[in-house]
Amino acid sequence: MLAQAPRDSIKNAKKIVVKVGTSSLTHASGKLNLNQIDSLAREIADIHHSGIEIILVSSGAIAAGLGKLGLRKSDISLSDKQAMAAIGQNILMHMYRKMFSEYGIEIGQILLTKEDFDSPERSALCKGTLDALFRYEVLPIINENDAVAVAEIKVGDNDTLSALVCNIIGADLLIILSDIDGLYEDDPKENPQARLIHQVTTLDEAVRALAKDTDNDMATGGMGTKISAIEIAMKTRTKTVIANGREKHILRDILSGKIVGTYFDL
Ligand code: GLU
Repeated sequence: MLAQAPRDSIKNAKKIVVKVGTSSLTHASGKLNLNQIDSLAREIADIHHSGIEIILVSSGAIAAGLGKLGLRKSDISLSDKQAMAAIGQNILMHMYRKMFSEYGIEIGQILLTKEDFDSPERSALCKGTLDALFRYEVLPIINENDAVAVAEIKVGDNDTLSALVCNIIGADLLIILSDIDGLYEDDPKENPQARLIHQVTTLDEAVRALAKDTDNDMATGGMGTKISAIEIAMKTRTKTVIANGREKHILRDILSGKIVGTYFDL
């Protein structure tokens, strides 16, 4: 499990989905972390310019809405959360548009719900839209349509959403950027000696036991959700890297095959 095999297949990835979590995009105050967003945009722009088909699945809409109005997720009703998503999605996209246009890239927003993945017709339409955006060299930015999605039609977290997007386009690689370096042998918050696992080749019980979930005030999902998402991505042979979104040049490092984060080569 700790083997540090070379990551050659990553270097050949032609279709990539990058999922960035709320914690990588916001400050503890809930306000957007502009430096973070800018360095992410710069890295993604470079990958896009290199001819790789790349999609950004971005969380942060609800957090951006909460941050704008100075509210906390735990204090508000479902319809208020949906309102926060409606407000925050705009704030987020405004920021992405500003940053990506600096790097010469046009963006296109797609907001999806579970129904889009459940229905083959809707999935095919979504694929058609993504292919057209690639053809026009526009960067797709995807989020769940939180403003209208209620429990029954919700994917619920963006780890799963990004894996489902990988299924639709047949991505070679899913990169999940989080606030943790990857999967550890033990909880690093409780055990500072815990070692990072660099490579996972089977999702056995031992690996599952290491994955615990979180649902804090801003974000949804944790390692358990990520492992389930990796299983979904695996269906279309998409490999996954979980890495720390706050590390400088993290995407460049991953794509150059450097041993960072946890690589799921299943
Ligand atoms: N779609 C949610 C948002 O943009 C985030 C879901 C998640 O944290 O996975 O705020």
